[in-house]
Amino acid sequence: MRLILLGTPGAGKGEQATRLSKNFRIPHISTGDLLRREMEEGTEVGRRISEFVNQGELVSDDITQAILENRLREADCRSGFILDGFPRNLNQADFLRAALARMQAPVDVVLNIEVPDSTVIDRLAMRNRRDDTPETIRHRLKVYRKVTAPLVDYYDRAGILKRIDGDGSPEEVTKRILANLARTA
Ligand code: ADP
Repeated sequence: MRLILLGTPGAGKGEQATRLSKNFRIPHISTGDLLRREMEEGTEVGRRISEFVNQGELVSDDITQAILENRLREADCRSGFILDGFPRNLNQADFLRAALARMQAPVDVVLNIEVPDSTVIDRLAMRNRRDDTPETIRHRLKVYRKVTAPLVDYYDRAGILKRIDGDGSPEEVTKRILANLARTA
């Protein structure tokens, strides 16, 4: 099973990806985590990444795509994967489609986790990440609406989008996802 999770920052993608990863025994690939790891290592690339992340901007496609493609080529991805935070714009979506076509491993399902704005703001306010200041949060939501939200249509047109109500406890949302996936399996 190859899955993509879409949703605004704070929609609960990371939490759901972790839970689905355990359920299906497939790796959870978070580009946010991969990028943060690179930053922690303090490499030259890591320094470039932190300039984007700390401003709430998307990291450039060339950097993100290279890191993602390396990860997808690791052996554990052969059984499937859950992508959390990638793609985040149309260019990345085209890149992913081409890369997975080369690997003969197309995406099966895209889950759009939908939550009201008020819930998102509350959830992000409770996290304690360095890039979660009110200013960067506002900016990330703006970037999301402008460049990431069009992906919902992109995957809807491809016929693989499922909409999930993400308002509720993590357990409830996971149940909804599993029930929805079972309907098409
Ligand atoms: P959130 O979902 O709250 O934005 P993430 O951990 O997914 O948290 O992302 C944190 C930051 O990492 C983003 O604000 C962005 O700067 C960077 N990032 C993550 N994924 C991508 C991506 N696919 N393309 C560009 N930048 C990314």
